[in-house]
Amino acid sequence: MLPRNSRLRRLSQAALSRSQFLQLATGALLPFVGLSPPAAAAKNPELAQNSGAPGTKDAAASGRMGAILVSQFGPVKIHSYLSPLDGFHVNTQIIEGPTALVIFDGQLLLPYAGEVASYVQTLGKSVDRIILSHAHTDHWSGLQVLTERFPDARVFALDGIADQLHARGQARLDSFRPIYGDRIATKVTVPTEIISEGAQRIDGITYDFRRFVDAESDLQLAALLPEQKVLMAFDLVFSPNEHAFTVVDHFDHWMIVLEQLKALQDYDTITIGHDTPVHRSAIDSTITYVKRAREIHAVSADAKTYSESLKAAFPDRQLASMVDFSAKLLYAARR
Ligand SMILES: [Zn+2]
Repeated sequence: MLPRNSRLRRLSQAALSRSQFLQLATGALLPFVGLSPPAAAAKNPELAQNSGAPGTKDAAASGRMGAILVSQFGPVKIHSYLSPLDGFHVNTQIIEGPTALVIFDGQLLLPYAGEVASYVQTLGKSVDRIILSHAHTDHWSGLQVLTERFPDARVFALDGIADQLHARGQARLDSFRPIYGDRIATKVTVPTEIISEGAQRIDGITYDFRRFVDAESDLQLAALLPEQKVLMAFDLVFSPNEHAFTVVDHFDHWMIVLEQLKALQDYDTITIGHDTPVHRSAIDSTITYVKRAREIHAVSADAKTYSESLKAAFPDRQLASMVDFSAKLLYAARR
């Protein structure tokens, strides 16, 4: 569901309802072992045409596998590319300022990163930089494509992310390769620039960068855009309509982080790592989810029990297949 934020709804150039948007995102699913779409719908070419930004040369939209939602805030546009389900419904956010583009996150699967790159090229502005939000593979594997297509764009991340990728990136890719074959990156793209915390202006847009530890991941960036009243929360906040990823045992601290986000006042729309933007109320629903997951984790001896109990606790949330994935990693880490 789009947030109640009327500004975002009114100015959204791609006026898709959430269900239309997700239909589009799941409409071109390729067979994928272990994952089934929540409600695979036929692709709708009309929606596909609507999904791009009017006025851009987005002629390839009708064949696009992912979906794009464009939200406008005065002179600033946020283009959200949402991958199909086999790419974990992960977002790449493209912030379009007056003269340049900033890309956040690079997709799991190379074909989807390729779609992002092609869409970015239709916008006709240079890519100032690429910023990686955290070190989970679904957010960086496709940086291989983006750095090839935009060789002048420097890649930024918080201090510590590059070390995590050096240490574990290749093993992560190797673990995905049996499932995805050549759709997963062949090499780890390690950010070369460190993003500093606090406010800075890029292309006239204020970004207040924040660093959070021990939540959905060990280390996570968030960015507050106070002038647009947008919080880019990435995987700190999940949609009330989808299961959250619970791949590490940081439940208690994740809830503390969510309370910290709630205490921030300068935003009413949250862009998230997976699924369409949400209202502030999604923080409370994420807290509810994480709290319940913690309780279930405490009494579940194995991944299967955890997964089944969590799915039973939130029967209406989509991406139930992702709970199995989370449980596997959560319990593998415990051994
Ligand atoms: Zn993620």
